[in-house]
Amino acid sequence: MAKFVVLLGPPGVGKGTQAKIISDQTGLKHVSSGDLFRENLKNKTALGELAQSYMTKGDLVPDDVTIAMIKERITRLDCEAGAILDGFPRTPAQADALANMLNELGGAQVNCAPWITAPEAILIERLSGRWTCRANGHVFHETNNPPKSKSVCDFDGSELYQRDDDKSDTVVRRIQVYLGQTAVLADYYRARKTLVEIDGTQSIENVSAALLATLKQ
Ligand code: AMP
Repeated sequence: MAKFVVLLGPPGVGKGTQAKIISDQTGLKHVSSGDLFRENLKNKTALGELAQSYMTKGDLVPDDVTIAMIKERITRLDCEAGAILDGFPRTPAQADALANMLNELGGAQVNCAPWITAPEAILIERLSGRWTCRANGHVFHETNNPPKSKSVCDFDGSELYQRDDDKSDTVVRRIQVYLGQTAVLADYYRARKTLVEIDGTQSIENVSAALLATLKQ
């Protein structure tokens, strides 16, 4: 049976970094809704144009288009064994839609929902010092996780840039949106006995170790 992991937690807590590490370790595909939107933006698709106004403000893209985008992605062959979902779902309606689409995919379900948490001051510090690679979305932090050479991705040599929505006003808005619309998903998955709380203030290595231990259970 396919295995689906939903990584929960506020912006800046390290979901993207961790998803890449545990994807490499487990072979499960990393599916990031934010990366998919950014790819659409880069390719100037109609979906990218629609998403852009929401993303620059730090607001959520409407559920219907987000759900359709994820459905198209996880029904591809490379998610046959499952996936690590990063940034989706972000609302209860998206979580319900996910449950339905997995059920349609041969009765799969969300097996595990790690909830990574950290205080707001840490999130702001991490987001505003974050540099992202243009080619594949690898993330670095100017002090906590610097690249070997400035502005160049260690993994694929592409340019590192600061996302528009990692600039200060939008960062605060994104955290507010998380608290107002997404944090409730902790209760959603707790009620379904799949929530596992993980302390996101630990080192990257310790968070990965905690996640991998959880996934083995
Ligand atoms: P992220 O890279 O996960 O921080 O996402 C960047 C932006 O993409 C968010 O601030 C939203 O505008 C949009 N986005 C990503 N995932 C979702 C989602 N599941 N629902 C709605 N909007 C999303």
